[in-house]
Amino acid sequence: MITGLAIAQTLLVGLPASATAEKDTLTYSQLLEQIDKGQVSKVELDPANQIARVTMVGQDQNVPPKEVKLFDQNPELISRLNNSQNIEYEINPTADRSAAVGLMTNLLVLFLLLGIVIVILRRSANASGQAMSFGKSRARFQMEAKTGITFQDVAGIEEAKEELQEVVTFLKQPEKFTAIGAKIPKGVLLIGPPGTGKTLLAKAIAGEAGVPFFSISGSEFVEMFVGVGASRVRDLFKKAKENAPCLIFIDEIDAVGRQRGAGIGGGNDEREQTLNQLLTEMDGFEGNTGIIVIAATNRPDVLDSALLRPGRFDRQVTVDYPDLNGRLEILEVHSRNKKVASDVSLEGIARRTPGFTGADLANVLNEAAIFTARRRKEAITALEVNDAIDRVVAGMEGTPLVDSKAKRLIAYHEIGHAVVGTFCPGHDPVEKVTLIPRGQAKGLTWFTPDEDQGLVSRSQLLARITGLLGGRVAEEVIFGESEVTTGAGNDLEKITGLARRMVTRFGMSELGLVALEGESEPIFLGNEMVNRRSEYSEEIAASIDGQVRAIVGHCCQKAYEILQDNRILVDKLVDLLIEEETIEGDRFRQIIADYQKQTQQLVTPA
Ligand code: ADP
Ligand code: MG
Ligand code: ZN
Repeated sequence: MITGLAIAQTLLVGLPASATAEKDTLTYSQLLEQIDKGQVSKVELDPANQIARVTMVGQDQNVPPKEVKLFDQNPELISRLNNSQNIEYEINPTADRSAAVGLMTNLLVLFLLLGIVIVILRRSANASGQAMSFGKSRARFQMEAKTGITFQDVAGIEEAKEELQEVVTFLKQPEKFTAIGAKIPKGVLLIGPPGTGKTLLAKAIAGEAGVPFFSISGSEFVEMFVGVGASRVRDLFKKAKENAPCLIFIDEIDAVGRQRGAGIGGGNDEREQTLNQLLTEMDGFEGNTGIIVIAATNRPDVLDSALLRPGRFDRQVTVDYPDLNGRLEILEVHSRNKKVASDVSLEGIARRTPGFTGADLANVLNEAAIFTARRRKEAITALEVNDAIDRVVAGMEGTPLVDSKAKRLIAYHEIGHAVVGTFCPGHDPVEKVTLIPRGQAKGLTWFTPDEDQGLVSRSQLLARITGLLGGRVAEEVIFGESEVTTGAGNDLEKITGLARRMVTRFGMSELGLVALEGESEPIFLGNEMVNRRSEYSEEIAASIDGQVRAIVGHCCQKAYEILQDNRILVDKLVDLLIEEETIEGDRFRQIIADYQKQTQQLVTPA
């Protein structure tokens, strides 16, 4: 723009400059005089510029002719020239330079303005985000030519792997299936909680089959403008078809694939359009074009049923939390590239971590590696692994309190949990008790959870409630009713929840074998937006409360008895805990065993 302006300026300025640069000029009357005197040898007329160029007799060839301004009509001059024999005269209309230059400048100014307008438009387009690229979807999906991930990198979810092994064969050797007239499935839906390895699994399929991996997240379809999502879907499938055989992975498909027409105030138009486009695209290609669509979700219940019809995501593979063996395998996969000391038992870690997903386990080993580096050790030891698990489960470690009444109260609370838990048959064993705060907790008692948590017995549930009550009851027994603290709030919430479920769902109370409530889930707008109202009378509601109270009261009584009967043990453990801040499970059990031996000797006379 700046150079353009400069050029225009020189042109504009240069035009009059070159026009006035003529050296000698004559007036019209002077010219007539000179002609009469016979001094003129040649006259060129330039009617367009109304100029006559006059060459004098004997004038040097190099001296340019004199210019004379003419009028519209110049009869005197013409008649003189016609009469004179000595004067050469011609009419020489030079190309109309000034007109041409004028046109040029006009054009230039026009271009200049146009340029400025374009620049302004661009600016405003950038400022308002995608406003100008409306409808033109920028590719938002990622493509990986080679994922480099194989089934060996995925562990602990054997069933899912087996199911998907077939998909690899579909991609690799489709003729195997088409030869016998089998239709290759188009879509597979991976269902499972976050972090269980769904994305990893999809990448492994692409890696095993050696095909490109296209991925997009469901939420990326949904944009500010209506129609963008649908055009993204089109783009994605177009690109995929160009690269077939390949695998398309749609993460969080529930973001687009939620049931149509659900939600407050009717469905979201944009989402519906996107979903319709997706369905159209999936119907549009034949199974043997070598494209397989894998989608992942943790909310299969909210998906539109049209997505799950044959020819779409008709295969569903569940990717669940890994069991003990699965966790061990995952830990093996992730410890492959880490230096782990021989004192670390991966099986021990797997035992301590029920309910952990693959992502959690990977995180534990990574945290352990970070601790190791920070402590300048050669290899990860058991200590770092334990710290890493604690950190992943309960958050950052805080600084321990200084010895004070508050610390003593927390110690009694935690030892209360640990002792009551240990004395209740069916309770999980103590893993450790600590006064080192973590996250929100001022002190913690860890129990090693039982592996098979599938079925829990009534006595186990009661033991759990009693153990949870142990903390609060200890505060009360030692410090008196007026000194109890807010520290038990979290415990009480869990206690009430457990007791209530015993009554309303598991038929473990005097109300008998009835399920009064379903699984209480957060109410989700996608599927069912009616508030789940309890379907029992107020009378029943009152008796549920009564039963819950009865259960908790019974457990509370038991916790009291245990703590009062073992006061000496409790005091001893609290002193130890305050001194050492952490008591490991084995040591804890040893102390209890010693104590029981002593009391037995006291009670039973030799
Ligand atoms: P999802 O997609 O189910 O939320 P990801 O596949 O993104 O979970 O998993 C996140 C990370 O956790 C993976 O990159 C991997 O390192 C680890 N991971 C999860 N599951 C497994 C598994 N089964 N085997 C090995 N690593 C796993
Ligand atoms: Mg994922
Ligand atoms: Zn507690």
